[in-house]
Amino acid sequence: MKPTGMHEACGVIGVVAPGREAARLAFFGLYALQHRGQESAGIATSDGRAAYLVKDMGLVAQVFNEENLSRLRGEIAIGHNRYSTTGDSHVRNAQPYLIETLHGPLAVAHNGNLTNAAALRRELLRRGVGLSSTSDSEVIVQFLAASAESWGEAEEGRDPWVDRIRALMRRAEGAYSLVLLTRSAVYAVRDPRGFRPLVLGALEEGGFVAASESAALVTVGARYLREVEPGEIVRIDAQGLTSFVGHPPKNPALCIFEYVYFARPDSRLEGRTVHLVRQRLGAELAREAPADADIVIGVPDSAIPQAIGYAHALGLPYSEGLIKNRYIGRTFIQPDDALRKNAVRLKYSPLAANLEGKRVVLVDDSIVRGNTAGPLVRLLRDAGAAEVHVRVASPPVRHPCFMGLDMATYDELIAHNQGLEAIRTRIGADSLAYLSLEGLLRAVGKSGHCTACFSGDYPLPIPPWLFEVDREKRIFEGVWGEG
Ligand code: SF4
Repeated sequence: MKPTGMHEACGVIGVVAPGREAARLAFFGLYALQHRGQESAGIATSDGRAAYLVKDMGLVAQVFNEENLSRLRGEIAIGHNRYSTTGDSHVRNAQPYLIETLHGPLAVAHNGNLTNAAALRRELLRRGVGLSSTSDSEVIVQFLAASAESWGEAEEGRDPWVDRIRALMRRAEGAYSLVLLTRSAVYAVRDPRGFRPLVLGALEEGGFVAASESAALVTVGARYLREVEPGEIVRIDAQGLTSFVGHPPKNPALCIFEYVYFARPDSRLEGRTVHLVRQRLGAELAREAPADADIVIGVPDSAIPQAIGYAHALGLPYSEGLIKNRYIGRTFIQPDDALRKNAVRLKYSPLAANLEGKRVVLVDDSIVRGNTAGPLVRLLRDAGAAEVHVRVASPPVRHPCFMGLDMATYDELIAHNQGLEAIRTRIGADSLAYLSLEGLLRAVGKSGHCTACFSGDYPLPIPPWLFEVDREKRIFEGVWGEG
């Protein structure tokens, strides 16, 4: 994660593993999804009689240990890594949410953000349902529990949860890739536009996994099967996978930023390996904005494939110029004021031997607030770079995201009201260029994505007041999402 800018979406995993401890698989799956959220982690399980839950603030490795994992009994589990806004950092917002319902325990882990969460929240409060957090994910779990579909006993052979999930999908607007845990099944659910990824895999020893990214399937020894389709509900239980139409699909809108930055490079999205798409982003950028330079370097780790693609397309040497401290992660120890001013130095060190006297192209995946690019340029100059040309492998981010990303408000986005030359001056680069939206779409090579933070073209109506309020108010009203 960059020190500033756009933060990752959350990561979710659901596991059904007959004869095995599902919590251990969920744990390692969450490990593989750590990049999607470092604020809190949690796992809920069921052994068919009772449900169990462990969640806390911190990284997966900080939250779980042998003792608490062994308390998570059962062959089915769901897990969650969370990133939300810093002001909203509190264990009460950690996931999964686990409650008792008429039909047994229900736990929910959510990746996304409901754009009508405030309305659903008010509706629940009016119906006398108490809420204990500001999270739209709690709204989802309570909405499922309190759904009118749940009144009375379920018909013979009918799955009451599928009816309730459908009822939720009729009402919920926005982005949601969900995994739900009930007494004896896991449900994987994707909103009708498919904003956030969700994939299915088969465990070699039997059983199935649903996860935010295919990289997590590899980690737990599962074979990739397919994506959960937009609008689909998949029930996973001891009998296998059962697919239901949850809601007819709407205009497809997978977040294009998953390709740009969020997803792991070794994950597959829409049948494409993210790393290869990122190389193509770099090649497109080279065609649109070549630079006269000696070496090309990337901002590690997220912009390395783009830098390789850029260098290759221009026949320039790709080199390492910045070393990232891979162990800094998320810390609760705040740096003092002097260190905070140099926050980028805590994370990146220049490789002076590769930089001295060189005209350097620095490729980054994106610039959101612009707090990182300037210090990185300074770092390279201090290490002896003769020139620093910044190339950004995505278009300027000009609009906020309401579909599950803790991005920034209009005021915080450097490109919202500043032109190219003003940004170049601010970050102190010798030249600056961004990839065009057309170039981004060409590199991704498939239509049907959300591009709203670049284009302002939101795939669904956004309540106008959401553009007005600042983030603190969004948090307060419980409408800012779960990443
Ligand atoms: S606005 Fe940007 S970050 Fe948000 S879902 Fe759309 S493409 Fe992704």
